[in-house]
Amino acid sequence: SMRLEGKVCMITGAASGIGKAASLLFVQEGAIVAACDVSETSLNTLVEEAKDLPGKVEPYVLDVTNREQVKEVVESIVQKYGRIDVLVNNAGITRDALLVRMKEEDWDAVINVNLKGVFNVTQAVVPHMIKQRSGSIINVSSVVGVYGNPGQTNYAASKAGVIGMTKTWAKELAGRNIRVNAVAPGFIETPMTEKLPDKAREAALSRIPLGRFGKPEEVAQVYLFLASDESSYITGQVIGVDGGLVI
Ligand code: NAD
Repeated sequence: SMRLEGKVCMITGAASGIGKAASLLFVQEGAIVAACDVSETSLNTLVEEAKDLPGKVEPYVLDVTNREQVKEVVESIVQKYGRIDVLVNNAGITRDALLVRMKEEDWDAVINVNLKGVFNVTQAVVPHMIKQRSGSIINVSSVVGVYGNPGQTNYAASKAGVIGMTKTWAKELAGRNIRVNAVAPGFIETPMTEKLPDKAREAALSRIPLGRFGKPEEVAQVYLFLASDESSYITGQVIGVDGGLVI
């Protein structure tokens, strides 16, 4: 049987990389996926690719930094489908620079999307989960949020912040039967990492015990586990998906 049959799952950053792999996996498992992304053209491609799968992909153009738009999209999902069972806060960006060269606008952009965006969407969704007395929230952090990485002051701060929010919300919302967990991917082959210089890729590869980069589908499988009832006694955790990078 399908693992997310009839579940309404809102995924941000749903049109590329890990979010796209998750959207396709979730519809394969029977979910109704509210696929949210800033890129309308990528969303159209996703809808096309998902059209013969068992569940349904409903596209929403959404910038997670826009609180008004977030409220509107959440309201229209709830109006159409009656509930939101699963929220995956997957949207994220990088604007890398060494500390001494990092521009204020690069700090602000990354914090706004990766940290405040997660706050914006979760704050709009949780009242509905409280009403329905259930929910699973999956926040996407990174190994960088736990261990740091030269050149990623803004990104590391945002992803460490996501872990802090995850643990706080797990405690605040457990009494409402809402679980909140984080996933910390290592180096995954997506558009986000393909622009990295060869030297950086080789250096990363040499530190990964499994000897290869991860695939978006391998992270999506962990989102699926956390979204499904199979993880019903797990909350407040940060699950690494990194080929052993941080052992
Ligand atoms: P990606 O760039 O392939 O996809 C990110 C998606 O988010 C894109 O479709 C983009 O349009 C969308 N997006 C960007 N800004 C947005 C906004 N303001 N509102 C809504 N959508 C927005 O990236 P990915 O590699 O698939 O990353 C997905 C998540 O995984 C991110 O949170 C990223 O930080 C995290 N992560 C990735 C890696 C990796 O190695 N790729 C490692 C650790 C963590």
